[in-house]
Amino acid sequence: MINLQEEHLQIIYTQAEKTYPEECCGILLGYFSSGKKTVVEIIPTENAWKSDIAADFSHDNLEYSKRKRYAIAPQILLQVQKDAREKNLDIIGFFHSHPDYLAIPSEFDSLCAWQEYSYIIVAVQNGKYNNINSWCLDETHQFQPEIIKNLT
Ligand SMILES: [Zn+2]
Repeated sequence: MINLQEEHLQIIYTQAEKTYPEECCGILLGYFSSGKKTVVEIIPTENAWKSDIAADFSHDNLEYSKRKRYAIAPQILLQVQKDAREKNLDIIGFFHSHPDYLAIPSEFDSLCAWQEYSYIIVAVQNGKYNNINSWCLDETHQFQPEIIKNLT
């Protein structure tokens, strides 16, 4: 389960609509406690995807654009992690959007995912927020849906 507030959701929706038709992305700061996660802050980040990263992953030699992929620059991730520590918070997950697609993880999403983190995916249809889901890996590295609890 991941707990968050309406204002957090609004930041994610706004970012997703603003970035359409490309994927938006960002970092969830908060804390872990007794098997639950609580979001304290949402940090939208630039989609730093470059198609040359794709060469490391793709088996089919297709070029993927920011409409289908996202990446958070490693230096941004490090900086956010440092800032989070100073505020006694942790990185507890990430969010990104799926323009004109469902709010379910792609194969690539699970390939790139780490254990324990929440992966919030927001579906945007024709530039408008449509649906939101959160996902977390199980022991076999498969994404399982996670309940989003709006504490507002
Ligand atoms: Zn995705």
